[in-house]
Amino acid sequence: MNIIENKSLLKYNTFNVDVNSEYFIECNSKEEIKGAIKLADEKILPPLILGGGSNILFTKDFEGVVIKNSIKGIEVIEETDEHVLIKCGAGEIWDNLVEFCVEKNFGGIENLSLIPGTVGAAPIQNIGAYGAELKDVFYSLTGVFLSNLQEKVFYEKDCKFGYRCSIFKDELKNKFVITEVVLKLTKNPLINTDYSSLAKAAFDIPSEELTIKKVSELVKQIRRSKLPDTKEIGNAGSFFKNPIVDKNHAEKIKLEFTDSIQYETEDGQFKIPAGWLIEKCGLKGMRVGDSGTYDKQALVLVNHGKASGQEIYKLAEFIRKQVSFNFNINLEAEVNII
Ligand SMILES: Cc1cc2nc3c(=O)[nH]c(=O)nc-3n(C[C@H](O)[C@H](O)[C@H](O)COP(=O)(O)OP(=O)(O)OC[C@H]3O[C@@H](n4cnc5c(N)ncnc54)[C@H](O)[C@@H]3O)c2cc1C
Repeated sequence: MNIIENKSLLKYNTFNVDVNSEYFIECNSKEEIKGAIKLADEKILPPLILGGGSNILFTKDFEGVVIKNSIKGIEVIEETDEHVLIKCGAGEIWDNLVEFCVEKNFGGIENLSLIPGTVGAAPIQNIGAYGAELKDVFYSLTGVFLSNLQEKVFYEKDCKFGYRCSIFKDELKNKFVITEVVLKLTKNPLINTDYSSLAKAAFDIPSEELTIKKVSELVKQIRRSKLPDTKEIGNAGSFFKNPIVDKNHAEKIKLEFTDSIQYETEDGQFKIPAGWLIEKCGLKGMRVGDSGTYDKQALVLVNHGKASGQEIYKLAEFIRKQVSFNFNINLEAEVNII
């Protein structure tokens, strides 16, 4: 276990914010994770579990112990004619797992191609994109409680998965470290191109050529054309969740804005794209110093260079106030603010 004091986190967060951590420990096994938790406990310092840092905004130096989860390994643990169970270390890069599965024609996560971050963080907010969510293929996960180092297995029914949330982002936030994840994938993949931009991209492709590999390539192409590369422009993807409002509220917005975009949810409410709300406030592509919103997608807050976490946070608060003032809607951050 390699313990580093006063470590810069610049390379460990995709917002490219330059902050330091009092202690930084990279862990390659469950035992090392337990050792790092013990050390934080001995030093009476808060621990912070870090994956790829692609869903985090550091607003100041972290006065605690960053535990970087680097547990690796991808393994098929069970196989039938229809399904495979794949066990994966929480520190594996999510997109490497997607590539592994796509190459073997194991279907179910191809629509989630190119989402940054680690496998262990994927259940935290039930990652989702292009008409698929992690929960659709999730089988189980194992991890360790920070309070007493007890291990526990969670199955799908235990995880309280919802739209960009789970028990791990809510009541177990900062209380449980995920060390491995098991997914159940299909050996007879069903192609899912229902999502509008994916359907458009797949329109001219003959059905016999529409393999999961092709879907993965299309998703990657769309993502590259819409989202900034974190190596060039710091960001954490969507900064806010898409808000859900009741029917009356949705109708009021529709009356005022005939171009309003709304999706009815299963329980008769309406999801409104947060990016559209921000754009309607005139804030798409805005810039304050080095912080701003992306000019192709207002929902993505960006660091053009040397913005501090505080500056990005202030911008996020300004956006929240504007959306609240203009639409009476409170945006909720999807990104974890530290
Ligand atoms: C360009 C871009 C595009 C994105 N697109 C999408 C998208 O389409 N869909 C989507 O859902 N997300 C998207 N995201 C957000 C992000 O990629 C995901 O949320 C991802 O799962 C975060 O993984 P990470 O390893 O970087 O997590 P981190 O940012 O390191 O951590 C996120 C949170 O999870 C906790 N955590 C991390 N690992 C563990 C663990 N092993 N055990 C317990 N807690 C842990 C952290 O403490 C933190 O609270 C995007 C981000 C970027 C930068």
